[in-house]
Amino acid sequence: MIGQTQVKCADCNGTYASDTSLSTCSSCSGLLSVEHDPDTATLKQLFDNRATKIGVGSTARERSGVWRFRDIVLDASDDAIVSHPEGNTPLLRREAVAAYAGVNGLLIKHEGHNPTGSFKDRGMTVALTQARRIGARAVACASTGNTSASLSAYAAHAGIPSFVFVPEGQVAGGKLAQTVAYGARTLRIRGDFDDCLRLARDASDKLGVYLVNSVNPFRIEGQKTIMLELLQQLEWNAPDWIALPAGNLGNTSAFGKALVEAHRWGLINSIPRLLAVQASGAAPFAQSFANHFAERISVRAETRATAIRIGDPASWDRAVRAIEATNGVVESVTDDEIFAAKAVIDQCGVGCEPASAASVAGVRALAARGVIHRDERVVAVLTGHLLKDPGGGPESDNTALTTDEALTLLERTVATAPNRR
Ligand SMILES: *Cc1c(COP(=O)(O)O)cnc(C)c1O
Ligand SMILES: [Zn+2]
Repeated sequence: MIGQTQVKCADCNGTYASDTSLSTCSSCSGLLSVEHDPDTATLKQLFDNRATKIGVGSTARERSGVWRFRDIVLDASDDAIVSHPEGNTPLLRREAVAAYAGVNGLLIKHEGHNPTGSFKDRGMTVALTQARRIGARAVACASTGNTSASLSAYAAHAGIPSFVFVPEGQVAGGKLAQTVAYGARTLRIRGDFDDCLRLARDASDKLGVYLVNSVNPFRIEGQKTIMLELLQQLEWNAPDWIALPAGNLGNTSAFGKALVEAHRWGLINSIPRLLAVQASGAAPFAQSFANHFAERISVRAETRATAIRIGDPASWDRAVRAIEATNGVVESVTDDEIFAAKAVIDQCGVGCEPASAASVAGVRALAARGVIHRDERVVAVLTGHLLKDPGGGPESDNTALTTDEALTLLERTVATAPNRR
C-alpha cells in the first residue's frame, strides 16, 4: 500500500511498525532501517511546492528542511513534530576553497548553519519526534559532543528528560557548554567514545531509556535530508561526487540510503559517488575499504578532529552498503591535512570545526591522484560550525598593545595596503 512505512532489520528481515521504540532488532540485534513506499508520481512536485511555503504563517512541516521531505522521512502529525526548525542550510561557492581542493566548481553545503551548529539536528528532530510518538519517559545517547548538544536542545523542546554520556576530557568546549546549558544530565565517563556507546546501549536495554545514537534508524532518516535538500538546491541535477567526514558512519549510511532512494523514486537520474573521509588516526573504515571490505576493523582512535575520533563505528554494515551502492571511495587524511584545509575554509569567512574540513582535504587528495577530475561536479559537506571547537588552529598574536602602538600598526598596514579602486 502506498504511504505505508515499516521498520526492517537488514540482517534477518524482521519487520516492525513505524511506531516501534526499538533502535536495534529485538531478535538478532541487527541495525534497523525505515522503509517507505511513497507515491513517486507526485514526490518532486510536492517537495518543490512545500519549499516555497517558508513564511510566518507556515508550520514546521513546511519551514523545516527536514519535515518538508516527511513522506520519505517519517510522516508524523503536526503536533508530534519537535522542530526548532532545522535544515535550510546554505550551498556556497568559494573560489579559494575550490582552488585549494583542485576542483573548479566545488560547492560547499554548510551544515554548521543548523540550530545547534551541526548536522546532528536533522537526525535529532526525527528521533525526538519518534520519542514523543512512543511516549518515551527519557532519552539518552553517547556522544563526541555534537550529538549531545543536539539531543539536549531537542529533548528540552520536547519536554523529555535526557541523559548524555561523554568521554572525559575529549569533548570540545563549545559542545559541552551547549549540552549543559540546554539542560541534559551530562555524565562524563572515564573512557573513550566507544565505551560511552556501550554504556548507552546497556542503559537502553536494562532501563528502557530511548536510545537516540546514530544506530537509531529515525536519525538516519532525518540525516537523509542533507542529500534531499542539496539535490533540491541543485534542481535535482545530481553532482558527480559528494564528500563528507566519516566517524561513526551514520551520515555515510544516511547519504547512501538517500541517494539510492532518490534514484529509485525518480528524483534524480544518476547516483553521485560518495567520498567518505576519515582522519588517519581513526580510519578503520578506510583501512577496510582498501582491502575491499574483507573484514570489519576496529582501532584505538586518535585525532584532533574530535567529532570523528571513533575507532569502532556503529553503522558499519549499512555504511559498507552505502559505499558499494554509490560506487564510493573511502579515504583517510592526516590531521595536518585536515587543519590545512580548515585554514583555507576559515580564511574565506566561512569557517568550520576541524572534523568538517576532512571533506575538503579528502577531495584535494583524490583530485591530486586524478581519481576526481577537476571538471567534475563535486559537493563537500561541512558538518559543524567553527565555534564548536575554536582551538587547534594557528595561535593568534595575542600580545596586548597600547592604544598608541595599535594606531602605529594600523597606519603602517593601511599605508601598504593595495588601492582597490
Ligand atoms: C558526528 C559528526 C561527524 C561524524 O559523522 P558520523 O555520522 O558519526 O560519521 C562529523 N563531523 C561532525 C561535525 C560531527 O558532529
Ligand atoms: Zn534482525
